[in-house]
Amino acid sequence: MPNETPPVLDGPALWSAQAHLPSVLGRQLVIERGEGCYIYTREGRRLFDGTAGLWHANVGHSRPELAEAAYQQMQQLETYHIFGRYVNDRALELAERLAALSPIADAKVILNSGGSDAIDVACKLARRHWQREGRPTKTIVLSREFAYHGLHAYGTSIAGLDFNRAGYGSESLVPETARVSTYDIAAVERTVNEIGADNIAALVAEPIQGTGGVIPPAPGYLEGLQRICRENDILLVVDEVITGFGRTGHMFASERYRLKPDLLTFAKGVTSGYAPLGGVLVAPEIWQPFYRDNSETPIFRHGATYAGHATASAVALRNLDLLEQDKLLPRVSELETLLSSELTRLQSYDAVTDTRVAGLLGGVTLAEHLSAEAITDQLIERGFITRPLRGNTVQISPPFTTTDDEIKQLVEALSDVLTEQEGN
Ligand code: PMP
Repeated sequence: MPNETPPVLDGPALWSAQAHLPSVLGRQLVIERGEGCYIYTREGRRLFDGTAGLWHANVGHSRPELAEAAYQQMQQLETYHIFGRYVNDRALELAERLAALSPIADAKVILNSGGSDAIDVACKLARRHWQREGRPTKTIVLSREFAYHGLHAYGTSIAGLDFNRAGYGSESLVPETARVSTYDIAAVERTVNEIGADNIAALVAEPIQGTGGVIPPAPGYLEGLQRICRENDILLVVDEVITGFGRTGHMFASERYRLKPDLLTFAKGVTSGYAPLGGVLVAPEIWQPFYRDNSETPIFRHGATYAGHATASAVALRNLDLLEQDKLLPRVSELETLLSSELTRLQSYDAVTDTRVAGLLGGVTLAEHLSAEAITDQLIERGFITRPLRGNTVQISPPFTTTDDEIKQLVEALSDVLTEQEGN
């Protein structure tokens, strides 16, 4: 019978994120335990975590050092808020540490709960900056095609992936946003000229686009963005939620690509996902006016109960120790070379149209006759987690603690699946 209303499916009370529910109910992978680069399902299946979860588990799963840091901090003080006169020790300590690591000289640090939060803060602060400067028409926030900046209201409205924008009336959800080209700097310049620099507050960009399909910048592209921003008084917001804290073999990708952001957003790798924490590094020209000794000095009206969360900060501090102690940044550079040569070999398959690697971020783009979604499902059957991304791309981004052999095994498994497909 046409027009019959489909039945409502049963399922757990937990509403899964970013899921087409009829496709996942009944086949959910319930993850119960993690150890290093492996996770274990409720049925006891062991899977190699080839994506480090959502690009976050950089030091590997379930490390006792980080559990201990959280335990000790919670026994002393779970947290205390940082509104007004109040601060807490761990948030102060973490901010000092981050300011010292920051690619922005003399940065101040805003702390909150994740990447989407950080994007909201950066965009609000950019608009607040121009209001305060007496240039209130500078309100539009630019982002790139295929961009992913989280899914809070700002992240939704500046999303470069149309499916993440659709359905909310995103033009009016947070109005005054526009997209620029991801590849062509001349096109970016044309868009900026069309909109008019007097109307633009900031440009937000991932140095290497992640969810959009692992897209490293075209040569000269990021330098071009930086030049356009400088020439037009547009604040450059570099979104390092994925790339921050070592993913490219540098503490920040801004160092790799010689960027001097005005604002830098981070999350994930700051705690390796062991506690929800994100934030924004802020350049002096933006923070100084809020620090002037004057009764007229404005307040940046933003904050949240968990901003500067003490336990999350304690975990971050210990996680930063681990990056150093285990020499994980040079290790990522070694792994980049290996992953790059392994993925290049896959280009001999007709079914592979492109491979891209930057740091420990890899993307394998498949020809149309294959589905990245089906291939990643088959890899799970073989014990390897990868993830389908936009553009029929398979994401490979394991923890920094992975071994050479594990990378080779993962690529071998992908290679086997492709061979099987070509045989069919
Ligand atoms: N920006 C980028 C570049 C991201 O990749 C993500 C998350 N994948 C976010 C922002 C949002 O971070 P969160 O999921 O912690 O809110």
